[in-house]
Amino acid sequence: MVDRTSIFGAAEADGIVRCDACPVLCRIRPGRAGACHRYANEDGRLVRTDPLVLLTQTDQPLVPFLEAAEDWDGGIVPPQTFVTAIGAGTTYPDYKPAPFIVSSRHAGVDTVTVVTEGIFSYCGLKAKIDTDRHLGPEAARVMHEGEQIGHVTTAEYGSQMLSIGGVRHLTGGSKREGNVTCAAMLALCAKQAIEVEIEGGSKLVLQAGAAPIVNGVPETRMRVGCGSAAVGIFAQQWQGHVDEVIVVDDHITGVLTEHQAGKCLNMRASGIRVRGRRSTPGRYFQVAHPGSGWGGTDITDPLSLIESIDPKLAWPGLRLLLTSTTGEDSLYVELDEALRPVPAQAPAAVAASVARIGENCEPALTSILFMAGAGGSLRAGVTDNPILLTRAVQRGEVRVTMGGAPCYLYPGGGITIMADILRLPDKAFGYVPTPALVAPLEFTLRADLYAAMGGHVDQAMSLATLLEQHGDSAVRGEWLRENPWPSPQG
Ligand code: SF4
Repeated sequence: MVDRTSIFGAAEADGIVRCDACPVLCRIRPGRAGACHRYANEDGRLVRTDPLVLLTQTDQPLVPFLEAAEDWDGGIVPPQTFVTAIGAGTTYPDYKPAPFIVSSRHAGVDTVTVVTEGIFSYCGLKAKIDTDRHLGPEAARVMHEGEQIGHVTTAEYGSQMLSIGGVRHLTGGSKREGNVTCAAMLALCAKQAIEVEIEGGSKLVLQAGAAPIVNGVPETRMRVGCGSAAVGIFAQQWQGHVDEVIVVDDHITGVLTEHQAGKCLNMRASGIRVRGRRSTPGRYFQVAHPGSGWGGTDITDPLSLIESIDPKLAWPGLRLLLTSTTGEDSLYVELDEALRPVPAQAPAAVAASVARIGENCEPALTSILFMAGAGGSLRAGVTDNPILLTRAVQRGEVRVTMGGAPCYLYPGGGITIMADILRLPDKAFGYVPTPALVAPLEFTLRADLYAAMGGHVDQAMSLATLLEQHGDSAVRGEWLRENPWPSPQG
């Protein structure tokens, strides 16, 4: 391990080192680690316990020969190396320059990458759960180990969304609430599974990149669309095989012959009216309560959806298909002489259309997105005048990455970013007991822009020097192909 005492802390008497990489200011005895286990006292030297992570891109894109020749000394072309902030450390409270300010040349452009592990009190996770299953009412509390760690937020198209963490749960409740929230976020960011319970809803096992487990049952399908969309997609395939289709959905239930799709196909009105509030022809809201039945509703008997059958329009022998938006639940019925629906064997073409719905469903999946504000004091570790960094980021002149993963930048003020944790290397996150999450952050920009914004250019070291000084203790990983290389803009 490399001695980083002078950067992250100071030596005290009796071999004790003080870590000042976060406000806890641990005094660490020889052979011991600090409260977060990220720093330790090794023979009187303060070391970062996790190695610096370097990512190399071996399959570099071809560049025109003249451009390549500019940097080529005739030897074997080394792999392109990116210094991530994972294992880099934190120079809290940031009046000190960031731990690594690395200068390198990329595609003929002098660039600087400023690397730091940010301590985020203002951070949260968005869990996107691809399922039509109703998980709990909007704004319901998300509980973990007896503490509220988040809430249910707006459902998106085919996905239920949870908001987890955030500054209020980290700092605004009891100490235990903050610690439980921090631990749950850290586990999710480490790509581990956690169990949460939604008040008035389901018990869930969440893990990035895995299917959600709802009340002990692994989900398999994300719905094909809402009930109205399903009618639009499959109307032509149903024509001639059924006389009416009801696609049951928690939000928008579709009724084929009333729907614009059925009208365009000149389908005869069936006279079957479903419950709920008609929004537009063939599109019904609130046909049932949310629940764990068909299509995220509490419906277990789909025929209970039928409010009335108009004898002036319906006819004996009318063929009706009821299906959920995933095709996991379906029922085929025909009307008898008294216009009562009677379950029957679905003809092959109808069964095939239900199977086609299932085929068009994507797999149920949980995605975890880390969101944080990076517009605070850590900017002072990048430049003397932090607003210039903020503006350069907002103008798109600075690539912001987390462990090499691209960050989505929210519009408006500040540097509010979001990243898919599956695009970061493993073990990228940590915590400090304030409590707050620690996350890697890299800013890459042109060297001239960095100098112009008052960057700490005197602290910059070349990539070659960094590799010479830290290469042996660093770990090298492969650059994730789906992540764009953070080439500076402008
Ligand atoms: S909690 Fe960790 S980062 Fe904070 S002072 Fe202690 S050892 Fe350093």
